[in-house]
Amino acid sequence: MSVFEHPEFDAHEQVVFCNDSKSGFQAIIAIHNMNRGPALGGCRRWSYADGAEALTDVLRLSRGMTYKAALAELPFGGGKSVILASDDQDKAAIYEAMGRFVDTLGGRYTAAEDVGTSVADVELMGKHTRHIAGVPSGGAGDPSPATAYGTLHGIKAAVRHRLAKDSLDDVTIAVQGLGNVGFNLCRYLAAEGARLIVSDINEEAVARAVRDLDAKAVGTSEILAAEAEVLAPCALGAVIDDASIETLRAKIVAGSANNQLAEPRHGDALRERGVLYAPDYVINGGGLINISYESQIAGAPYDRAKAFAHIARIGDTLTQIFELADREGIATSLAADRIAESRFNGPGSPKRNAA
Ligand code: NAD
Repeated sequence: MSVFEHPEFDAHEQVVFCNDSKSGFQAIIAIHNMNRGPALGGCRRWSYADGAEALTDVLRLSRGMTYKAALAELPFGGGKSVILASDDQDKAAIYEAMGRFVDTLGGRYTAAEDVGTSVADVELMGKHTRHIAGVPSGGAGDPSPATAYGTLHGIKAAVRHRLAKDSLDDVTIAVQGLGNVGFNLCRYLAAEGARLIVSDINEEAVARAVRDLDAKAVGTSEILAAEAEVLAPCALGAVIDDASIETLRAKIVAGSANNQLAEPRHGDALRERGVLYAPDYVINGGGLINISYESQIAGAPYDRAKAFAHIARIGDTLTQIFELADREGIATSLAADRIAESRFNGPGSPKRNAA
């Protein structure tokens, strides 16, 4: 089977297989769709079973970035890269090699951090290419506060749509995970007058939220079924499954965690139960938007006010998605995909995958 017949191919524009025998380095760079602009996406380093598994992963991830960038209203396409990790690799050598390969694409793909790749690793790539993002010299810093700010605006849009409330005052919100995004989100929510129910496996983080934000703590097995109007998953993926939907009491699921639905059908299951779901890849786009205002990408010094004004528009995008889902009687996750597709497959697009 060639890459063209791969079930995840989906009309990728370019797939580059990178091999450097000297450093024992192998990687794949995938560019899904550049209709909106050059591709931007993280570089993942993972111990794949084989090249086939790595290819499947990179194709799925880069396609996801096309949708995410389109809904974040960014002039970027979707791309991603994966490095096939092994124990004996010299990290410096492989990230430098990766930088050289990224550079061969002349800006068609910009790499950033991802699972297994730290900011320091991205800086190593930067020795050989200027097409990197998410490093301190870009000025944007840690993306988590930006992701939390976008999530706040997503929650506000969902509360307006589902509960017909213009304010979060006295709205009870259950937050699962008090890490970099979750804790920042809780601060924003508390400042807006929301009542917080929180849970984390890290007891210190829980104690801090109870002490500083007047949050109520519950156990990790209780948070998904907490008596709250909004559930904000900010820890793990796949938390929305048959079992959690059965016990869910919230009317809204809106949080930063990636891949919240265990399976796509759980988007329909939430709709059938009258639960409004804010699709994860839309509501958690704040970090990506923030990176796009970095100096290497924007070509101008990082402007926090402009970046955060853009991030706040995540709320408007979600409202559009909720309204389309209502009109068409479809899951919000499907409505989000449709709006994204209309944005990157607009008039004049090649649509090379069309049957
Ligand atoms: P993090 O690692 O800083 O925080 C995750 C928190 O979840 C930790 O405090 C951890 O102790 C907690 N946790 C783990 N298992 C738990 C459980 N069973 N119950 C309750 N809490 C549990 O990660 P983060 O950067 O805050 O990201 C949170 C989520 O948002 C992740 O899914 C991440 O992929 C997603 N996300 C983050 C960003 C970003 O800018 N950081 C951007 C987009 C998406």
